[in-house]
Amino acid sequence: MVLRKEFFDLPEGVIYLDGNSLGPLPRNAKARVAEMMQDEWGAQLIKGWNSAGWMAQPSRVGDMVGRLIGAPAGSVVMGDTLSIKVYQALAAALKMRPDRKVILSDSGNFPTDLYMAQGLIQMLDGGYELRVVAPEAVADAIDDDVAAVMLTQVDYRTGRVHDMGAITELAHSSGAVMIWDLAHSAGALPVDLAACACEFAVGCTYKYLNGGPGAPAFIYVRPDLADSVDPALAGWLGHDAPFAFDLDYRPAPGIERMRVGTPPVIQLTALEAALEVWEGIDMQDLRVASVALQEVFIREVEARVPELTLASPRDAAQRGSQVSFGFENGYAAMQALIARGVIGDFRAPDIMRFGFTPLYLDKADVLAAVDHIETVMRDRLWDDPVFMARQRVT
Ligand SMILES: *Cc1c(COP(=O)(O)O)cnc(C)c1O
Repeated sequence: MVLRKEFFDLPEGVIYLDGNSLGPLPRNAKARVAEMMQDEWGAQLIKGWNSAGWMAQPSRVGDMVGRLIGAPAGSVVMGDTLSIKVYQALAAALKMRPDRKVILSDSGNFPTDLYMAQGLIQMLDGGYELRVVAPEAVADAIDDDVAAVMLTQVDYRTGRVHDMGAITELAHSSGAVMIWDLAHSAGALPVDLAACACEFAVGCTYKYLNGGPGAPAFIYVRPDLADSVDPALAGWLGHDAPFAFDLDYRPAPGIERMRVGTPPVIQLTALEAALEVWEGIDMQDLRVASVALQEVFIREVEARVPELTLASPRDAAQRGSQVSFGFENGYAAMQALIARGVIGDFRAPDIMRFGFTPLYLDKADVLAAVDHIETVMRDRLWDDPVFMARQRVT
């Protein structure tokens, strides 16, 4: 049993199918942040870095995230945003293979991951190349020129899942470093980083981990490499002795070297509270519950809403924790749904995306959501100028 509805503070009348983009507010996070503001920041002022444990928080919370992704204690640290952590992992990976010049990724990757690679390549100015192939072509594109394979396990648009173990093995057999982005995996499906043996993994915590808008990212470095990787961003809090204030950078031992600057304590406090929901939850059980919800959703939508075309893999094993449907007027249709309290989102050009998070959704919610989708489509409720105007965030 993984349902924890009472843990979350969801507005009345809302069916929230967008936890894959921004998880809802955990009640205890609200209380904990209020306490932290008053009792720690308010009362302890700068002493809080020691007395309230703020300085140790990035590794403490990193271990909590690590448990959800099969990473041993001391191999994950929190900080910055996912874009920054992608950059750091990629820069560190390239340093490990100085004789190779290719970064391999796929066209299903989230654009910021590709942009960070492009920016890094430009800055290094060392003849590097970003090779982007179709997701199905990744395995064949791994060759001896590839320094790093950088992939997101679950496609943000379609939910298609890469086989982490198999691709990592291929990367390693041709001598490449493997970086996994777990943005749509952490808290969504079982991940076993220790078994996968990839060198780096990164991810964010405001999606399935419910850390709130702007919650910090995480980075994992395989323990046997943590004392030797180049952290790429030489910030003072990744220094071996930040408070010695040396003029020269010297990386800290272990995962701490991947820290950069001052941690976002308020966000980490919200995240630390949010992560308590996972106590006693088996990720395999969560996965089973997620798949069951998705299967009901797909079956009902396909039976009752012929206008929508499944854009996710039909095989549940090939899907993360979201289901996408293609529809020409998907943006307006999603806006019409949101106006009725069914919140999903839209990804260009035509994808209506629905996330399934069994922590706070059950079968009744899914069936109620499909009722709304059927009404919106049957009555063409989307065909209204109010729903056509694009907002800044889709
Ligand atoms: C959500 C997401 C991001 C977002 O990066 P931020 O720096 O946190 O804004 C990056 N990559 C992937 C694969 C994502 O799904």
